[in-house]
Amino acid sequence: NTIALAATNNLKHEKMVKSVFGNVASKYDVMNDAMSLGIHRVWKDHLIRTIAPTETTSLLDVAGGTGDISFRFLDYLKNVYKNNTKAKVTVVDINSAMLEVGKQKSEAAGYAKSCQIDFQEGNAEHLINIPSDSFDCYTIAFGIRNCTNIDKVIQEAFRVLKKGGRFTVLEFSQVNNQMLRLLYDQYSFNAIPTLGEIIASDRASYQYLVESIRKFPIQPEFAKLIKDNGFTLIGKGWEDLTFGIAAIHTGWKV
Ligand code: SAM
Repeated sequence: NTIALAATNNLKHEKMVKSVFGNVASKYDVMNDAMSLGIHRVWKDHLIRTIAPTETTSLLDVAGGTGDISFRFLDYLKNVYKNNTKAKVTVVDINSAMLEVGKQKSEAAGYAKSCQIDFQEGNAEHLINIPSDSFDCYTIAFGIRNCTNIDKVIQEAFRVLKKGGRFTVLEFSQVNNQMLRLLYDQYSFNAIPTLGEIIASDRASYQYLVESIRKFPIQPEFAKLIKDNGFTLIGKGWEDLTFGIAAIHTGWKV
């Protein structure tokens, strides 16, 4: 009975997450800029520079949504290798509305034609269409905290990466300084749901997103989860961004 109840709760959570992102898809990019005052762009650019892809890197961008990380990856390579790149990216997301926005962006940017990007509907916890040992790099940006079973997500990342592959997570985290944390909590609990209401006419979805940040494990706990699920960490395993509002965690499949 306990197992059946847990399964029902997991299904409920998955459905709720699907509906949240279904609701916000069309306003997702505008809301990101409004909520973070544009800082999410700086973090995402930094993520790509941290990965430092080469002209042959294959990237799996899980919970890739509207393709923000994937397009940055392709733009970076276009700049550095002057179009002379065989690099490929696969975007996986559980929500078809988010992927649809991504597909339209890929047409507009000309990436659909070059076949360097493909979009797949799928769950980070069971990447059923992705073979084992098949990617050089795996990213999940602002996605893992919405997943029901984080351990499963990390185990699947480990399975699909090649030996030597890199698992990289960009996620909201814990602000280090107590005073700043208080200010940030005030901002996120009050301003973000209000912005959601004004811009996307959807307070509840943004309320959920703020609460999910609170519940996510703090930096050392999350680094331990990554290690416990098979990855090797270098140093402490993460880098704080903007006082720890977000962090980039890395694990290596050795
Ligand atoms: N990575 C993109 C970015 O940085 O802009 C999108 C992030 S958005 C906040 C979170 C995404 O995670 C949504 O598109 C949502 O549909 C997706 N997601 C949530 N749970 C998922 C799961 N279990 N498997 C795959 N994607 C999931």
